[in-house]
Amino acid sequence: MTPALETLQSVFGYAAFRPQQEDIIQRVVAGDDALVLMPTGGGKSLCYQIPALVRPGCGVVISPLIALMQDQVDALRELGVRAGYLNSSLHAGEVREVEEALRAGALDLLYIAPERLVMERTLSLLRSVDIALFAIDEAHCVSQWGHDFRADYLQLELLHREFAAVPRIALTATADARTRAEIVQRLQLEEAHQFIAGFDRPNIRYRITLKQNPRQQLLRFLREEHPHDAGIVYCMSRRKTDETAQWLCEQGFNALSYHAGLDAAQRAQNQSRFLREEGIVMVATIAFGMGIDKPDVRFVAHLDLPKTVEAYYQETGRAGRDGLPADAWMVYGLQDVIKLRQMMENSEGSEAHKRAEQQRLNAMLGLCEITSCRRQALLNYFGDSLEQPCGNCDACLTPAETWDGTEAARMALSAAYRTGQRFGVNHLVEVLRGSDSAKVQQFGHDQLAVYGLGKDLDNNQWRSVFRQLVARGYLSVDMEGYGALRLSDNCRPLLRGEESIDLRRDVAVKTRGQQTRQP
Ligand code: ADP
Ligand code: ZN
Repeated sequence: MTPALETLQSVFGYAAFRPQQEDIIQRVVAGDDALVLMPTGGGKSLCYQIPALVRPGCGVVISPLIALMQDQVDALRELGVRAGYLNSSLHAGEVREVEEALRAGALDLLYIAPERLVMERTLSLLRSVDIALFAIDEAHCVSQWGHDFRADYLQLELLHREFAAVPRIALTATADARTRAEIVQRLQLEEAHQFIAGFDRPNIRYRITLKQNPRQQLLRFLREEHPHDAGIVYCMSRRKTDETAQWLCEQGFNALSYHAGLDAAQRAQNQSRFLREEGIVMVATIAFGMGIDKPDVRFVAHLDLPKTVEAYYQETGRAGRDGLPADAWMVYGLQDVIKLRQMMENSEGSEAHKRAEQQRLNAMLGLCEITSCRRQALLNYFGDSLEQPCGNCDACLTPAETWDGTEAARMALSAAYRTGQRFGVNHLVEVLRGSDSAKVQQFGHDQLAVYGLGKDLDNNQWRSVFRQLVARGYLSVDMEGYGALRLSDNCRPLLRGEESIDLRRDVAVKTRGQQTRQP
């Protein structure tokens, strides 16, 4: 694990980098300059915060947004980062305190307003200490053509002259080509590597399908679309990785496995075969992929749901680096959600951390369940945008049908409620479908009003209803129980008849061109 990734996880509590973050951070850690254009909300802060922590010395962040400095510093301190700020809102005594801390090497990050930075007093202080980097936030303020022009920003070119050895990273969310050229020229960032591409990977086709018979679904996908191509199949567990690889070999594919449980030599061998030979299918856990640069990976398949949208984007992003058409294909089902929720609940870590993890999982589920363009949703999540639906994802290519699931949803919720919110989806479906199983009898659930009320839908249709209710947060999975479903507060309006709900009609794809439809 790189120091940057280790810092991302241990200090900031995030599992994976967002698009571009990793490359940018690597550059700056190595001591190079960078110009970063990223949409608001895209995750620019980490691009200088992490290098500041990884490199020796204090990272100096120049920002015109004085009003935000205190918040930023407070947030960092809460994470245990030694941060401070210098701006005109501080009293003389406070300024001295921060300067003292800097001199004593007790700061990892220092936020400074530009007018304060260019004061001789500050400059001579900075000359006397170790500086990890200069981050120039809102770098477009240097542009005289923009409406955010700040005269003080023009003076920032002195950084290059006076601190030639210190890497600089300039960041902005709004910069057309002319502004960018101006930033480069005025801040003397000619040597800087520019990160200006948006997050879109237009050659990747996104598809997310309901998990029914995952192995057969995968086999069909590979045989019909990628019989001889190199690709990656991600699984959650090591065991499943090995088993799937072996099974694919039996089906005639050239499959290898990769996970942290293999010894180092075996891992290295499998990895290098994947890179060198053609048409290898690598079945792997998330341990595989970091730093692997193989341009002609034609598909990335997920047999299990990633925990976050970041992870999904990063893993699927390994497909099609050569710009040629590539597939990001995934199957997911209710069991994935339940398993992940349980893992998160049973993990170490504070309540706040668990809640944050659950929220990130919810965002991933949202991406699975939407019926509109997946690329738009994905880009939106990162603060990027796409004007029109992309035309290259399953939602665009084969629009999902929806149906009025209000009645079914009420039945499902009521089944969970009437059985005491202590049972999982299988049992609830049995109750709804009027099964005479031993368990139903044992608990007397054949006496309930909902018993047998849902005969109109079959097993899979009910599972689809439950999955969507969980994904949308109407039902939550009880972590201590064995996946027992509980009602969430927000299902009240639905139960009271004040709200209706449209559900996605799940389509089972049998073979290409020929589809069997469900509910
Ligand atoms: P920007 O400065 O580009 O507008 P921020 O740096 O404020 O964006 O980040 C926006 C949000 O994204 C923040 O809430 C941040 O915590 C979150 N974020 C950034 N990077 C990651 C990551 N790798 N994983 C998860 N969340 C992230
Ligand atoms: Zn689309």
